[in-house]
Amino acid sequence: MSLAEITERVQRAEAAAGRAPGSARLIAVSKKQPEARVRAILQQSHRVFGENRVQEAAGKWPGYREAFDGIELHLIGPLQTNKARQAMELAQAIHTLDRPRLARTLARLAQEMGACPDLFIQVNTGEEPQKAGVLPAQADDFVAECRGMDLPVAGLMCIPPVDEAPSLHFALLGKIAARNGLEGLSMGMSGDFEQAVAQGATHLRVGSAIFGAREDG
Ligand SMILES: *Cc1c(COP(=O)(O)O)cnc(C)c1O
Repeated sequence: MSLAEITERVQRAEAAAGRAPGSARLIAVSKKQPEARVRAILQQSHRVFGENRVQEAAGKWPGYREAFDGIELHLIGPLQTNKARQAMELAQAIHTLDRPRLARTLARLAQEMGACPDLFIQVNTGEEPQKAGVLPAQADDFVAECRGMDLPVAGLMCIPPVDEAPSLHFALLGKIAARNGLEGLSMGMSGDFEQAVAQGATHLRVGSAIFGAREDG
């Protein structure tokens, strides 16, 4: 599919849900994509991208930033505390704040650097043991804890279990966000972004539908 096609589908989903155009932002997830494909999307004036590894992002994006203005980079993968500084220097948003220790590290660095990317707290809505994120029952406390550290919490993020209907997870995430007064909802991927728009997503993380299959197969 083309970027134009995906953008049009997002706009249609926004309209169908009675939402303002552009209220669901499309993050083009460029991890493991060949440079030519990423450049092609940049040349179509898209500027919002997502990467899931700090190392890979650090290798690619400083170069693209020299060639293109206004790039906004979102880190959407698991973040180790020893990569936090680099992540904060590279990205305008981090979607995977998932534990107190990482929150403390980000808060300390934010003080030191005088700036902090927008943060999304990852919630393990499916309560899957292998998946990162705070459990739904711990989410309210963790939001409060992060706010207590003056961290800029923009919203919540989830990755629904592969074998379940995403709508239940999107609804749960929306409910937790609403009761905590959070506006940002990072949810929806290639297979379910229209559903996510219908359920209030503000940030869609779409990779393969825009770029084609990744090099990891
Ligand atoms: C890779 C990735 C995506 C994009 O997945 P697609 O199915 O290619 O759209 C979204 N979110 C996260 C956290 C990812 O790691």
